[in-house]
Amino acid sequence: MDRCSFCGREKRDTNLLIAGISGHICDSCIEQAHSILQEELKKKSEFDVNQIKLSKPYEIKHFLDQYVIGQDYAKKFISVAVYNHYKRLVHVHKEDTNEVEIEKSNIILVGETGTGKTLLARTIAKMLHVPFTIVDATVLTEAGYVGEDIESILTRLLQVADYNVEAAEKGIVFIDEIDKIARKSDNPSITRDVSGEGVQQGLLKLLEGSIVNVPPQGGRKHPDQKMIPVNTKNILFICGGAFDGIEKKIGQRLNTKTVGYTAVKDADKVDRSNLLQYVAPQDLKAFGLIPEIVGRLPVLAFLNPLDKTALRSILTEPRNAIIKQYELLFDMDGIKLSFEDTVLDYIVEKSIEFKLGARGLRSICEAIMIDDMFDLPSKEVKEINVDLDYAKEKFEKSDVKRLKAA
Ligand code: ADP
Repeated sequence: MDRCSFCGREKRDTNLLIAGISGHICDSCIEQAHSILQEELKKKSEFDVNQIKLSKPYEIKHFLDQYVIGQDYAKKFISVAVYNHYKRLVHVHKEDTNEVEIEKSNIILVGETGTGKTLLARTIAKMLHVPFTIVDATVLTEAGYVGEDIESILTRLLQVADYNVEAAEKGIVFIDEIDKIARKSDNPSITRDVSGEGVQQGLLKLLEGSIVNVPPQGGRKHPDQKMIPVNTKNILFICGGAFDGIEKKIGQRLNTKTVGYTAVKDADKVDRSNLLQYVAPQDLKAFGLIPEIVGRLPVLAFLNPLDKTALRSILTEPRNAIIKQYELLFDMDGIKLSFEDTVLDYIVEKSIEFKLGARGLRSICEAIMIDDMFDLPSKEVKEINVDLDYAKEKFEKSDVKRLKAA
């Protein structure tokens, strides 16, 4: 009786049994082997640094432009930083020569919530061929406190890299809400708020570049797990934070006419409506980041608050703009969906009125569209045009309070 030489199944238990010189293989083993092969090939091509095609900063920015509206300043800084990161990876530094060593330039993005910091990071991740992960600084606390250890940042990166340590060591980590680990005062003697500072010291170790023992499964649930040493020297860190209230510190600094980093000499020429554009490293220190951390984040970029025009563009222009997504959803049911321009303006107005920013656009669209999305797939409708009256009616009926709290 012929059997599969891999799983041992008899011929009658298979759909197909192929004979080789000294053995057989059945259809399900072929399929399994095929998927293993695909996985392996994918892993190889995904994280093989030698395969990296260097995208020029201009190309990286062009890619970002397709998904993120405005924020040209931040885009430029990120594009250059990512390009240089790639260059460092392909440039093999010879330790024992006098050759110049390119140091990494970790980035810090400062901007109100919902202005696109995470979106920028996610979009960059789309085009990268190095492992990438996003972590939230608020979940980090010192060892011994409740919460995750600082090393868990690297656990995530290792997981994304399928435990390929060499690949993880060349990855990029986005740390969101970095402002939440600031100490409450820039004078350490006044407050005993050591916990924030402890996390910062831990983070500093990662930013500086050191060999960190990483628990492969993360957390403290597996105390016996074998640690994996990861060198953070080549990992690029991008941090983001809203730094609520930092404008005050910037304002104070500008008022005292100190000629700072941004060299704004003439206090009269300062655009008081958007002070964030003058943000300088000393403001981050004044906010409560320790000087060593600020020093390890040499690229400081700001994001602009989103105005009416920007919000209106966000609705329709990005490659996966919200409105385009609704059109596609309806199209899949054979329904041609369109919106009157006044509806789009209305959505933007409401988002501003309820201070929901870009995040609110989707919730408001959802409130307007929910009934149509529920009803129309079961009806014989081929076309639907959303007009202002309809939008107003649906929005006003919706649970506006809930939206406001969201
Ligand atoms: P942040 O990280 O700054 O708090 P996010 O990047 O998470 O904000 O933005 C929330 C959502 O708002 C995004 O998923 C995106 O849909 C939208 N958004 C925010 N800013 C922009 C922008 N500049 N261009 C396009 N969409 C944006």
